[in-house]
Amino acid sequence: MSTPELRRKLKAFWREYDRVNVLRRKISHDEKLAERRAEYFIDHGVWLPLSLPSLPEFPPECSGMVCGARGRRKGTPCQCKEIERNGRCKWHGRRSTGPKTVEGKIRSLTNLKRGPKL
Ligand SMILES: [Zn+2]
Repeated sequence: MSTPELRRKLKAFWREYDRVNVLRRKISHDEKLAERRAEYFIDHGVWLPLSLPSLPEFPPECSGMVCGARGRRKGTPCQCKEIERNGRCKWHGRRSTGPKTVEGKIRSLTNLKRGPKL
């Protein structure tokens, strides 16, 4: 599998991971469910197992990934193996550099509370 594909897969994994994690938190912090479980415990003397959606498994092909970003000085691909969630190391791939297309730029401007500055 090519590196951009791997990076996409890694990002998709983290997106899915976050989604499931939010779900799990929602379930385990649900007061009504906790009440029902407590009632069941009072009636039967045992806790019902809390069924949480399982977290996705880390894609094994993404385990040995390197950063691969091109350095500014030499232009060689970065060999750092400490990959963050975005598939790059701590030196490369920080915050977004903003929208690229005209449509994207317009969309981001219309998202401003005060509206676009004209
Ligand atoms: Zn790097």
